[in-house]
Order: sequence, then structure tokens, then C-alpha cells
Amino acid sequence: KKNYFAGPSVLPIEVLEEMRDNIVDYEGNGLSIIEASHRGGMFEEMYDSCLSTFRELLNIPEDYDVYFLGGGATLQFTMIPTNFLVKGKVADYAKTGTWSNKACSDAQKLGDVNVFFDNKAENYTTLPDPKSVKPSDNSAYLYLCANETIGGIEWKDFPDTGDVPLIADMSSDILSRPVDVKKFGMIYGGVQKNLGPAGATFIIMRKDMLERRNPNLTAYMDYALHAKEKGLYNTPPVFSIWGVKLVLEWIKRNGGVEGMDKNADLKSGLIYSVIDSSDFWRSPVDKRYRSRMNIVFRLPSEELEAKFVKEASAEGMLGLKGHRSVGGLRASLYNALPYEDVVALKDFMKEFERKNG
Ligand code: PLP
Repeated sequence: KKNYFAGPSVLPIEVLEEMRDNIVDYEGNGLSIIEASHRGGMFEEMYDSCLSTFRELLNIPEDYDVYFLGGGATLQFTMIPTNFLVKGKVADYAKTGTWSNKACSDAQKLGDVNVFFDNKAENYTTLPDPKSVKPSDNSAYLYLCANETIGGIEWKDFPDTGDVPLIADMSSDILSRPVDVKKFGMIYGGVQKNLGPAGATFIIMRKDMLERRNPNLTAYMDYALHAKEKGLYNTPPVFSIWGVKLVLEWIKRNGGVEGMDKNADLKSGLIYSVIDSSDFWRSPVDKRYRSRMNIVFRLPSEELEAKFVKEASAEGMLGLKGHRSVGGLRASLYNALPYEDVVALKDFMKEFERKNG
């Protein structure tokens, strides 16, 4: 089958096979990695290797902590303001779609929030010019979602926020392009799109962020505790982290972030060129900010969209229905989706247009 699901999503076939081959007896150790203690050597060795490959691929500087937590990206919507939205300060949020709205709404329950951009009136189809974005005078941090998975809109460049920490949700575009980590106070996301099987959330945080946090945090809410314990304060999502380690090694073998970046251009270019080739297809998103990971598109009628999904599914092409909150169609073209599967989608679209256009 061909997998265009938005998340959990496609994994490299080599990684799935490696997991199958090692699930019972992990690399000849005589037990499975998912039945071994997370305090034991076997897990920690694997975990350390996972973290160092992550650091290497994304070029994460030494003064940043890197670790994994549970709770999904959604838990971070609460943890970020709980830690950093201190009394007397305001948090700046951009509302650019579903995920930044959810993050913003949680922050509003916990402190003062300034929404510096809200494109609701246009259904979240455009973004602000990053150069025009300035944090509030008493800003605790400036928050954005780098790639809105549901709306298919992606920041191509990021604002320069000076001394104010920039915090980004990169759940759905992490490792699809090089990122200047130094611009950010924190980058985080669920791993279940570009990094591995669902379960873990990656956290990349500049160490001095910890000095800004609220006092008296409960244990799990406190980033300082997680940083000190490297994410192993409580039992980590072991299976997910193992998968992430293998995906990171796969990325490394396949040209690293630069390789992923080039492929994302090629793959998304194939589909956008079909969308742009006639009035039969329509992309609702401002061309400058169209996502390379999640391509959102429409057909002239909902009937045709339903037909498209049904016929694609009969051909083994899964996950092309748009999110239930926005309708339409969506093709997610994450790192692990083979080029051939994108060509197959392009050919299917052309044929569908020929028959129905
Ligand atoms: N942020 C983005 C951009 C997402 O795409 C998603 C989920 O799909 C989330 C946050 C929520 O992630 P989780 O399900 O891991 O809580």
C-alpha cells in the first residue's frame, strides 16, 4: 500500500524490517529492547546513540539539551506556558491553524497571551512576513507552529526575536530541512510523522531557558528535572525511541537533512505542479507558504473529492482525505515516503483529471 497519512505516518521499510528482525532478540543480547529496563546498559546505550545522531543531523549546539518525553506534542502546549509564562510577562502567539490555536488556547488558561497574528478570517491560508514579526516589550517567549499539519502551511523563514526566546512546534517538518537551531529557545514535536513510531516527543531546549522558568513546578512539569535526567526521570516510551534511533540512522544513510530537503522539494514539486496545471485542482494556501510535508488541495465539488478518495483507496493509496475539521484532500509526503509513491500519486491525479475534468 501507499501511505499518505498525516500521522502516525509512513516509516522507512528498512526500519520496519530492522525492527522486525530485532524485536525478539535485540542485536544478539538475548532479550528484547522493549522488555529491558530503561536504567540498564542496553537501553541507555541505544538512547545515547539516538540522541547523538539527532544532535549530529540537526547540528544542535552543545548549549542545548536534547531528550524525549511522553505525552505527545499536546502536553507541551501546557508545559511551555507552565514553565515560561511567568507573572508580569506576556506570551506572543501566532494563530496559523489548528495546532497553534490549540497551543494558544492552553496558554491563555495559564497567563497573559498576545496573539500577534490570527488568520482565521481567511481560514489560515497565509502567514505573516517573518521580518515584520516583533515580540511584545515584556514578552516571555514568542510561539509558532513551523508547519500546520492540517492546513498545509509552513513557515519558510523564522522571525528574529532577539533576546526573547523563539519556541516552535516542528512536529510535522522536523528533519525535512536544515534549521538554524541557535535562533530558537526551544524546538519540540511529536515523533510520529518524520521521526518514528508514535509515543515519544522530542525536546530541544537551550540550557539557559531553565533560568527563566516559574518556581514551584510539579515534577513532571519541570523542564529542569527532565534536562537533568535526560528525559529518563520516569519510564520513557522505549519502543518509540528505538524506532526514532533507527529512523535517524536511515536519514543519515540517505543524505542527512540536506538529502531530505532536496527530496521534499522534488516530491512536493511533483504534486504542486499537477495542482497548478489546471483549474480542476485548487490549493487554498498562499503559494509562498505551501507546505512540502502536507499538501492540501481541493476539487470542484465535494462529490468529486469523495470519489477521488474512494478510487485512490481502491488502488491502495491511503490517507488522502483532508482532516475532518477542514475537509478537502491532503497528501502527506513525509521524509520516509518513497519518491515512486509520489510519482504514483501524480499519475493517479492526472488520470483522475482526464476522466472527470
Ligand atoms: N502539533 C502538530 C503540528 C501536529 O501535527 C500534531 C499532531 O498531529 C500535534 C501538535 C499534536 O501531537 P500529539 O498527537 O503528539 O500530541
